[in-house]
Amino acid sequence: MNGLKDRHAIVTGGNRGLGAAIAEALVARGAVVTSLSRSGEGDSSAGVTAVACDVCDPVSVAAAFESAVRSNGPAHILINNAGVAPASAFQDTSLAEWRHTIDTNLTGPYLCIQRVLPAMLAAKSGRIINVASTAGLTGYARVAAYCASKHGLVGLTRALAAEIARSGVTVNAVCPGYIDESSMLETAISNVAQVTGKSRGVARLILLKQSAGGRFVTETEVVDAILRLCDESASGTTGQAVLIDGQDES
Ligand code: NDP
Repeated sequence: MNGLKDRHAIVTGGNRGLGAAIAEALVARGAVVTSLSRSGEGDSSAGVTAVACDVCDPVSVAAAFESAVRSNGPAHILINNAGVAPASAFQDTSLAEWRHTIDTNLTGPYLCIQRVLPAMLAAKSGRIINVASTAGLTGYARVAAYCASKHGLVGLTRALAAEIARSGVTVNAVCPGYIDESSMLETAISNVAQVTGKSRGVARLILLKQSAGGRFVTETEVVDAILRLCDESASGTTGQAVLIDGQDES
């Protein structure tokens, strides 16, 4: 499996959770991977270059992308995966929390895309994949900032794809439901248990009921969808918001 041999892929939030799984899968297909995160942690023995970067900070983003390109050459693939998912009732959402969510989940991808796009357009080739959420397509209670940021990310995906159609660079989003065994799901279960006064088991069932497919999705399903969009054969797919919500296609 080396369909991405020597491609340089930059993954934001590649040090843990979904991002680490994406980085590992890209390495397994032959890609050279740079992982960006605030901690700058990463397992370099696994073929990943870890660079410290706060995607909210334009100066940090510029320095991190310069370092990534110096080490591994221009990026062929950008995965905007870094994200935060705070939960609170709308009236309790502070301006600081609102801004931090929009900065991380929406302005971060904007800043990162700006760093890679000129070289991709010049090369007439590139893959930009934004990790949104079902919350980028549907509204959910008590996560207005998250929903707004992910709807914005889907809008950014569609608008940029239209703007650079026929350039050889594709821009797509993936929209997963809750990922089983992820820290975001565990936090959401805790939040629902606290708000409802129910057990974590009941809170889990409440969240399951919100899922169109009646189940949480697996990390592998999300990674596989991203790999499909990275592939050479996906050159005709752009501007899409790929829903991964656990519903069977049949
Ligand atoms: P985690 O909380 O496990 O990981 C978040 C990642 O983002 C970490 O690597 C973190 O690294 C990084 N990050 C956060 N803020 C910044 C920042 N300012 N600059 C750089 N990196 C940052 O989340 P998941 O792996 O579960 O989620 C990954 C993505 O998938 C997110 O965009 C999320 O919205 C989306 N998603 C997740 C779902 C789920 O159920 N888990 C469902 C649907 C979508 P560090 O803290 O070191 O900076």
